[in-house]
Amino acid sequence: MLPTLIQSVAEMQAQSSTWRAQGQRIGLVPTMGYLHEGHLSLMRLLRPRCDTLVASIFVNPIQFGPHEDLARYPRDLQRDMELCAQVPCEVVFHPSAEEIYPENFRTHVEVSELTENLCGPFRPGHFRGVTTVVGILFNIVQPHLAAFGQKDAQQALVLERMVRDLRMPIEIVIGPTRREPDGLAMSSRNVYLQPEERKQATALYHALLLAEKMINSGERRAEKVVAAMTELITHEVTTPVIEYISVVDRQRLHPLESLRGQFVIALAVRIGKTRLIDNMFFEV
Ligand code: AMP
Repeated sequence: MLPTLIQSVAEMQAQSSTWRAQGQRIGLVPTMGYLHEGHLSLMRLLRPRCDTLVASIFVNPIQFGPHEDLARYPRDLQRDMELCAQVPCEVVFHPSAEEIYPENFRTHVEVSELTENLCGPFRPGHFRGVTTVVGILFNIVQPHLAAFGQKDAQQALVLERMVRDLRMPIEIVIGPTRREPDGLAMSSRNVYLQPEERKQATALYHALLLAEKMINSGERRAEKVVAAMTELITHEVTTPVIEYISVVDRQRLHPLESLRGQFVIALAVRIGKTRLIDNMFFEV
């Protein structure tokens, strides 16, 4: 059975208040739609832990930069509804941009420090857009639990920080990155890749595997790991634009010179017109 489609903020908020009054636990998976196994895996992660599962589908205009892909971002609501039915989830919340951002909208949520490195400098205003919309979605859907993917590690850690700092009574669950059989992290944006670019896109995962191998063999110098990853990508991709390959600590996302404790290796590479990101978490 297809989930119930709710497009009005007032209706969603009223529905969630009713569920809460009935003592139901609400789970939320926020997405921008064009769903794939990565999104569905987050829904399945919450499914046994809640009574009512809501997937939101909202291509959030304020998290896109002026030269980014807002207009061409892929959309297919009917297909998304059918995929949600497979989980299953009870409700798909799909508001319009005007519903979320009425004309007199003036408030934003901003997390400092964690947004300063990795994607931060390359996407000014992006995380402010993400934290603002997720804050709004939390107030509308009123979830007890919300799931985010490790694929967007910085986003997940920023949102975890927001929830802690603002004392939102919501448990953040971070689900593992789902990959294609050849290792490419699933992403709605992978449909932009031309066939040759798609083949070369596995270089990001190969670079992370190389980093893992070096670390497992005892390498502790971040610089060496980054250099080897850079070389691999330059070798495997025809004309890559490497935005960053960074080793940062997991708590504050500050660059590390020496690898110890809990850290993240993250990278962003543009292949043709498509910007790809990937990462791995480590503990040594
Ligand atoms: P998006 O629709 O791209 O905004 O993603 C919605 C949620 O799905 C975010 O929490 C993402 O981190 C998560 N997600 C996207 N791709 C994957 C993936 N390959 N594996 C796991 N989670 C993912």
